[in-house]
Amino acid sequence: MIDIQNIFLKDVELSFILEIISRTLMMFLIILIVLRLSGRRGVRQLTLFEVAIILAMGSAAGDPMFQEDIPILYGFIVLFSIILFYKFITWLTQKNRFFNELMEGKPMCVVKNGMFEVKKESDSDFSQMEFFAELRNQSIEHLGQVRVALLEVDGTMSVLYYPDEEVKYGLPLFPDDQYKITSLEDGGPFACLFCGNVKSTLESCKDRCDRCGKREWAHAINSRRIG
Ligand SMILES: [Zn+2]
Repeated sequence: MIDIQNIFLKDVELSFILEIISRTLMMFLIILIVLRLSGRRGVRQLTLFEVAIILAMGSAAGDPMFQEDIPILYGFIVLFSIILFYKFITWLTQKNRFFNELMEGKPMCVVKNGMFEVKKESDSDFSQMEFFAELRNQSIEHLGQVRVALLEVDGTMSVLYYPDEEVKYGLPLFPDDQYKITSLEDGGPFACLFCGNVKSTLESCKDRCDRCGKREWAHAINSRRIG
């Protein structure tokens, strides 16, 4: 039997509840001060390293709030050590390019010359679907509009577009247009569903893509970005 009383109440004392409230308030104030000292302006785009720091801080700040045998001072010391460590690492990553790439990773080229750059699934922890969703977020209708797309270390996507007159045929990114062709009746050009390689003609709709080796094609489109 599950002992509900034990889970929820277990020797509760009113005096300790009051202590928890004051411990929580104090830890909360300390966290705010420490976060201000970290120098970060917001949390919209955290690098992996910063997420790790925040997780460590959360754990260190949470325990002294309700564990009576942990003095607040310990939590305080842990938080300040973490911030000192954070400041030191940040300083190192600014000084040293190798260390920077080790901690934060490098920007990754996702699209180049209107084609998907990540040819093998194993090249990336992201799936093609996620990249495409990210590109759709930037109102990109097909890969032929994109000269370069970089995935930055903070997870945002930087995109350089072709000017209107240079937009090429490319793989559609919106699911409505992304149908695998089953006949060649409507004519080309065609785009490889996996890498965006564009061919003006195909022998059959099961042709092998000479870039990635897959055998599925969609109709390529060349609409411009605006209007
Ligand atoms: Zn391909």
